[in-house]
This record gives sequence, structure tokens and C-alpha cells, in this order.
Amino acid sequence: MNPVLSEKRLLARLESARMIGGDPAGGITRPFGSVAEREIRQWFLAEAEAAGLRTRLDGAGNLWALFPGAEENILAAGSHLDTVSQGGAYDGALGALMALEAVETLKDTGYHPQHTLAVLVLTGEEPNAFRLSTLGSRLLTGMLSLDDIRDITDDSGYSVWQALAEAGATLNSHDLLPHIPLKGFVEPHIEQGPRLKEMGQPLAVVTRITGIVRHRIVIQGEANHAGTTPWLQRRDAVQGFAQIVAAFKALIDGHLDQLTGTVGYVRVYPNAVNIIPSTVEFIVEWRSPDQTVLTAVSEEYWDMVQQLGNQRGLGITRQVILNQAPSPMDATTQRLLQQMIASEGLEPIALESWAGHDAAHLARKVPTGMLFIRSNGKSHCSDEDCDAQDIVLGSRVLTAFLRQWDQMVLGRRPSC
Ligand SMILES: [Zn+2]
Repeated sequence: MNPVLSEKRLLARLESARMIGGDPAGGITRPFGSVAEREIRQWFLAEAEAAGLRTRLDGAGNLWALFPGAEENILAAGSHLDTVSQGGAYDGALGALMALEAVETLKDTGYHPQHTLAVLVLTGEEPNAFRLSTLGSRLLTGMLSLDDIRDITDDSGYSVWQALAEAGATLNSHDLLPHIPLKGFVEPHIEQGPRLKEMGQPLAVVTRITGIVRHRIVIQGEANHAGTTPWLQRRDAVQGFAQIVAAFKALIDGHLDQLTGTVGYVRVYPNAVNIIPSTVEFIVEWRSPDQTVLTAVSEEYWDMVQQLGNQRGLGITRQVILNQAPSPMDATTQRLLQQMIASEGLEPIALESWAGHDAAHLARKVPTGMLFIRSNGKSHCSDEDCDAQDIVLGSRVLTAFLRQWDQMVLGRRPSC
């Protein structure tokens, strides 16, 4: 029989977390390094300790709540507790608190794990004042080293090292992988999109996490008088930008089932009503779970942008600011999650994740899986919502999964 978790305790914890970092302008603002984020970390550690788990912080300030097993090798479940500005109550916190509930339930029902089971709360998943998203998972997995970020500060000069130290990070590379004997990670997370809602299904197993490519493109024209400069002699950067954005839309329209893209950052110079714009700087982002499509389309676009620039006499430069490959989830972990969903009498849905997650980095080092819980289709905003029934169902699946995963011979290795 599956262990019975405490629905009341889980929902009460979600409610307590929602109260930390409430933004007067709406939603929750709890970015890494903020007072609210410090508060929720302390609250989480207290909850985990009250649950009888052993807590510790690693080199990157990631929080570990451990239920010791027969061996030191760790199987972890978790997510993050920081939020975007005016974000929702579930992105991150749901997965972290579902994991706490699952591990606590296993402990309370007298389960004796083979592996040490852990709740893992990763530091600074969302973008923050230091411009470092998925900070804790990248440091943990060595995608980013402590030295890489030594000199990074926010706009006020406050250093990320200091922020990490104040959050309790040991800043010691021996407190990161491969020195921590982590053997697997699973991240439960609100879906953040409308697909499960449209399918009428509460849960899904993630197959892979999207790749993301971001290019900063600068269009260089010439500032001049907005009235006296003849139309055909202008080198207007905004007119060029308009054409370049229309071409971007056309390219996406032609690949709708394979990729998506956004131009979410634009700066115009000198940005005055009576001056022809000299410069437009923008960031174009592409996402696809398919690396081949991602590379082909982003390069096709770059060729197109250069051609349009030439036709209009505009200078075009590009800087690749992110090139993150898609991250497949571990096949065995996916299969086991699917079995656990099926054992609840549900259809085991498989979905790609179009949002980035800490799991994308963990997957490059240890077998990693993700469980999606249906959302109302809104996220990174205060309207984000998730049904209590789905949360409880997802937590039951996670608890059963952790027990099965722990018992799988495949995961058993000698201590190191
Ligand atoms: Zn998240």
C-alpha cells in the first residue's frame, strides 16, 4: 500500500510559503539575496528540522534536508524557493514542499531507505540582481565554478559571493559535486503552460527540457533630423528593426510545432521623438527541445537579418549570450514515474518542458527526472494557480516513486 501523506500539512506549508515575500503590487517577490528569500530559506530549514530531517548547506548555499539511509549515496527530490518579481505561489515552492512532504511521509511511516533520501532546495533558480539564473544548480554541477562568479556584483556593487556567504553557502568547492554522493534527482514542478489543462490530465512526466539560444543583436543606423532628412536617405534603425521582427515572426510561424521564440528586450537610441533612431539593441531568444532545429533556425535567421541590414544600409552585429543545449531526462527515471502515475489509474502523459529548470543542469551529471503538475496555464505572474487535488495526487505519486526508486537495484552502488 502507498504511504498516506498529510494533505493538511502540505497545503498549510504552501500557504505559509505564500505569505513570505508578498508584493504590495501583487504576487510574490522573493529573488535570491532578498530579505524574503532569506526568510523562506530559514523557514524551510526549521520545517525540515521539525520533521526530523538533518539539514545542511553546500558550497552554493543549496539546502539539503536528509533522511539517512543504509548508505551515504543520496537520491534527492526538490526544486527552488526563490521567485521572479510578482510571481506566483507555486513555481518552485510547490516542488520543494511536495518533496519535503514525500520524504517526511516515508520517514513517519517507518520506511528504512537504502539510499539517503534528500529534499534539495536549489539556490537562485530565477533571474536575479546578479543576472545569474539557475545559480545553485550550475555551481553544484560545475557548469559554473565559484571562481567564475567571484567578481560578479549587482548594480550597487554587492557581490554574489557575499550574498551566498550571507545565505550560509560554504563557498567551498569540496561541498559540491562530485564530492557530494548524489546519485539521482527528481524535480516536481508546476507545468506553467496550458497543455495538461487542455488534455484534462493532472500529471505528466517530462521527456526533455528545452534548449535555449539567446542572441544580442545591434542594428546601427544614423541619427539625423526627423523632419529635414529625405525619406530615401535615412538609415533608420527602428524601420530596420520592424522588418527584422516581422521576419522573425514569419520564421516561427513556419516551425510552430518545433520551436518558439521571443524578442523580449529592446532598447532604442537616442529614443527621442524628433530624431531618427540611430541604434536598436535587442535580444532574440529561441527555444526548442530539438538541437538541430534550434541551430538551423537561429542561423537561418541570422543570415536573414544580415541581408535585411545590407538592403537598408544598416550595420548589424551579433553576440551569442546563451547557447544551452536541450537536456533529455533519464529514461529509467521517466519509466518509473510513468508507472507510478499509471498505478493511480491515470494516463502516463509525456511532455517536453519549454521552460528551463534546475533539472536541466542536474541531468548532465546524475540520472534526473521531472514530474509536471497541471497548472491553470499562467506562470511568472500572480494569477498562477494549481488545484489542491492535483497537488495531493502529484505528492502521492512522488512519494511512491521515491520508495520504488530507492529500491531499484540500478541505483544501488557502494558508498563513496
Ligand atoms: Zn521554477
